[in-house]
Amino acid sequence: MSTQEYNLYAHFQSVFRQHPERVAIESDSGERTTFGEIDQISARMANWLHASGVKPGDRVMVQVEKSVPALLFYLACLRAGVVYVPLNTAYQAAELAYFIANAEPRVFVCDPARETALRAITEEQGVPTLVSLGADGQGSLLAAVQTQSSEQAVCSVKPDDLAAILYTSGTTGRSKGAQLTHGNLTSNVHVLLNHWDWQADDVLIHALPIFHVHGLFVAAHCALLNGSKMLWITKFQPAQVLAWLPQATVFMGVPTLYVRLLQEAALTPAACSHMRLFISGSAPLLTETFVEWQARTGHTILERYGMSETIMLTSNPCRPADGERKGGTVGRPLPGVQVRCVDEQGAPCPAGDIGGIQVKGPNVFPGYWRMPEANAKEFTAEGWFRTGDVGRFDADGYITIVGRSKDLIITGGYNVYPAEVEGYLNDLPGVAESAVIGCPHSDFGEGVVAVVVPQPGASLNAEQLTQTIKSQIAAFKVPKRLFVVDELPRNVMGKVQKNLLRDTYAKVFDAA
Ligand code: AMP
Repeated sequence: MSTQEYNLYAHFQSVFRQHPERVAIESDSGERTTFGEIDQISARMANWLHASGVKPGDRVMVQVEKSVPALLFYLACLRAGVVYVPLNTAYQAAELAYFIANAEPRVFVCDPARETALRAITEEQGVPTLVSLGADGQGSLLAAVQTQSSEQAVCSVKPDDLAAILYTSGTTGRSKGAQLTHGNLTSNVHVLLNHWDWQADDVLIHALPIFHVHGLFVAAHCALLNGSKMLWITKFQPAQVLAWLPQATVFMGVPTLYVRLLQEAALTPAACSHMRLFISGSAPLLTETFVEWQARTGHTILERYGMSETIMLTSNPCRPADGERKGGTVGRPLPGVQVRCVDEQGAPCPAGDIGGIQVKGPNVFPGYWRMPEANAKEFTAEGWFRTGDVGRFDADGYITIVGRSKDLIITGGYNVYPAEVEGYLNDLPGVAESAVIGCPHSDFGEGVVAVVVPQPGASLNAEQLTQTIKSQIAAFKVPKRLFVVDELPRNVMGKVQKNLLRDTYAKVFDAA
C-alpha cells in the first residue's frame, strides 16, 4: 500500500471515482450532489485550506449547522491532512474560548449569525482565519473556495496521523479532546461495512447531527465508503423519515428518534417494507422501544455501542447466521476489537458479573489532546482504555451496559446500579421512563433518588410506585425519594443528563 492510501479520503475517493455521476446526497431541501461533485468541491476546499496557510497537522475548528457543504468541508480537511475539530452547535461563547485555547486552530468556521461574537474571540486568541458557513450555504467560506482549482493531490499521511479531535461532552470537569487517527477511522469503517452487511444498492437515511461520532464516523462514513446514496435530513422530522422510508434501506438513530417515530400512526410494516436495517446507539435503547418497534414495523432494531474515543466497539449481529439481536444488550465485540469487564482490582470478571469495561483495538484512540495526566489515568499499563462504562457479558458473549461508573450509587456501603432500578421502574404500569441518581445523604453517603416520567395520559402516584418497587428489589436499592416529572433532561444525542438531575435534587436529603 502506498503511504497515500493511509489517508481515509483516499479510500473514499477510490469509490467516488467509480461512479462520479451517481447521486451521493439528496437533501431535504431538494439539492442533489454527485460523488464526482463531492470530489471536486472538497478538492477546492482543501486547496483553499492550503492557500490559507493551513499545514498538515494543523487544527481546523468548525461550529456550523448540519449541511451538505459542512460534510464536504470535513472531507476537505481529511484530504488536506489537517485535523478536523467539530463542535456541538449548542456551545456558547465562554465554552468556545476554552476549545480555541486548547486546540489552537488555524481556521475557525462559524455560523454567519455568530460571526461578530466569534471575531472578538478569535482575534483575542490569535486564530488567523475566521470564515462562515450557514445551513443554506451562505457565508464567506463557499465564496472563498470558488476560485480554487478542483484538482488536488490527497495528502500523504501515516496511519497514526490525526484526522480529527472530538471534544467529549464533559459532564464533570473540563471537556477533553479525543484524538482520532486516520488509522482509527479507516479500520472501523471497513469493519462496520462488513459486519452490517452493506449492499451495493443500500440507501441511508441520514438524520443525525454531524459534529458527533454517530452521524459523522458511523453513518456518513459507511455510506460514503459503500458508494451509497444518503437521504439527508438537516433537522430531524419524523414525517421526512417516513416520506423517505420507501426509497431507503438503512436508518441510524439515537433512541429518542425511535421513540419519536413510534408516535407516528403512519409507521407500519408496509411503510418499512423496503428497509433492510434499523440501527440504534449513543444511549440505551429501552427494551420497551425495542419490542414496540418489532410489533409496529416487523423489524428488529440492531443496537450497537461505541464512544467518541473508540468509534464503534460492539454490535448485535446483522446476518441471521451470526445469531439473534438481543434487546437490552449492545451485542458482541466487533471483529478486531477486544472488550473486557474487570473488577475493582482490574481482574477480568466471569460472565454475569458486573465490571468496568476496558477496550483495545485498532479503532481505539491514542489519547486525549494535550492531557498527559488524563491519558496516564485512563489507560492501563497494558494499553487497555478504561471506558468509564460499567457492564456485564452474558453466557453468549453479549454485553449489557449497566451505566457510567460515575453514575454508580454507593449507599450505606452498597453498590446500586441505576440501570437495574430504572429497569424495574420502567416495567411498572403507566411509567414511560425513569432516571435513577445518587444524592448526598448524611447517613448513607448517597441516597437513591428516582425521577419518573408517566406515559401519556397516565397519572402516577410516587408513594404507590415506591411501595410496589419495595416488593421487587432489595431495600437498599429502593428509591428513598421518587419524583414524577413531565420529561427528563436530554442532550442532542438523546442522552439523559444525569448531572443536571443531580444538581436539581442535590438537597433533597438535607433535612434527613
Ligand atoms: P459519546 O462519546 O458522546 O458517543 O458517548 C459515549 C457514551 O454513550 C458511551 O461511553 C456510553 O456510556 C453511551 N452509549 C453509547 N452507545 C450506547 C448504547 N447502545 N447503550 C448504552 N449506552 C451507550
